[in-house]
Amino acid sequence: MGADLGTSAGSPPGPAPGAAFDPANCPRLVVKIGSSLLVDAAGAVRSQWLAGVVADVAQRRAAGQQILIVSSGASALGARRLGLEKGGRASLEDAQAAAAVGQVALAGAWEALLAAQGLTAAQVLLTLGDLEDRRRYLNVAATTRRLLDLGAVPVLNENDTVATTEIRFGDNDRLAARAAQAAGASGVILLSDVDGLYTANPATDPAAKRLAVVKALTPEIMAMATGETRSGMGSGGMVAKLLAARMAGAAGIALAICDGRVESPLTHFANAGGGTLFLPPRAAKGRKAWLAGRITVAGSLSVDAGAAAALKRGASLLAAGVTQIEGRFRRGDVVAILGPDGDALGRGLAGYDADDARAIRGLRGDAQAAVLGYAPRTALVHADHLVLI
Ligand code: GLU
Repeated sequence: MGADLGTSAGSPPGPAPGAAFDPANCPRLVVKIGSSLLVDAAGAVRSQWLAGVVADVAQRRAAGQQILIVSSGASALGARRLGLEKGGRASLEDAQAAAAVGQVALAGAWEALLAAQGLTAAQVLLTLGDLEDRRRYLNVAATTRRLLDLGAVPVLNENDTVATTEIRFGDNDRLAARAAQAAGASGVILLSDVDGLYTANPATDPAAKRLAVVKALTPEIMAMATGETRSGMGSGGMVAKLLAARMAGAAGIALAICDGRVESPLTHFANAGGGTLFLPPRAAKGRKAWLAGRITVAGSLSVDAGAAAALKRGASLLAAGVTQIEGRFRRGDVVAILGPDGDALGRGLAGYDADDARAIRGLRGDAQAAVLGYAPRTALVHADHLVLI
């Protein structure tokens, strides 16, 4: 187990691989709530609806399920309070100011509603870097687990006031998937103003059908999504939800998109079903699961078909199979591994600095030593530090 607090240490058991899995009843659950559900057209918190969600949470807590909330809505609440045009999205400064004002109101609403159910709210504001950097990720993991152990309900959001456009999640769907991984949750429910993934846009195509269960995020499934949000308020859209499902799945976590427009949506989902459930294809563990969920990479290694096939059999990535290297990375940085067609195959920790990696690209072991002036390592990315996605 060592220092690898980021996954299974002390967490409830996850789903058996391949088993049908119900996020509504898993031991530890992340519930993400979109802006359009939380904030009404006049820019106020939809308190009555939210009270229903909180009653659901209290009921589940009493039944033994641990719950973390990921709450959007700060920008939408703050923009209205500051009288900002375009919902506070006219500039980065506006968005950051809106989030600062809105986050206080949002936290206040959660505090009051959870307290009314006898529950303690805990605010956790995260930036992308808090979960992309392994050390900080483990810190978030430890803090959220401690809060759950103490009986508090963590309420998470991106710290939009300090997150800049270049380095941010931008949508709380992926933040929810990543936070679930850190907290050792085995399920994520995205409460949304859509009731799941449809084969086509249901607003324009009457033949569109909702998919109840998705077992693999194939290119066909990914192509069903558009990036637009229905309300224009949040930043998620279906693309972000599918990326979140992929991220969750890579960590062995099931994710459901379900309709939040009803009263008591968690109880409704548990009783009536609906939505779309994404089953995790395989459960990567520890550092590998964290690697798979990385959003930012320091560079990329393109590989030939032979190397791609070898990786799929579990081999390390050897310099001989690398055709192209992009970026300025140091040994130990996370790099993307791209297939011959440029498709993302996986992520790994670079075994060399970028300059040395470029020098030995395409070479076999003995030729590498001559170029490097030192005995080469076994691989450019070792199989132990590599995950396929
Ligand atoms: N963090 C944003 C907010 O609180 C929401 C991001 C999203 O829409 O997913 O407003």
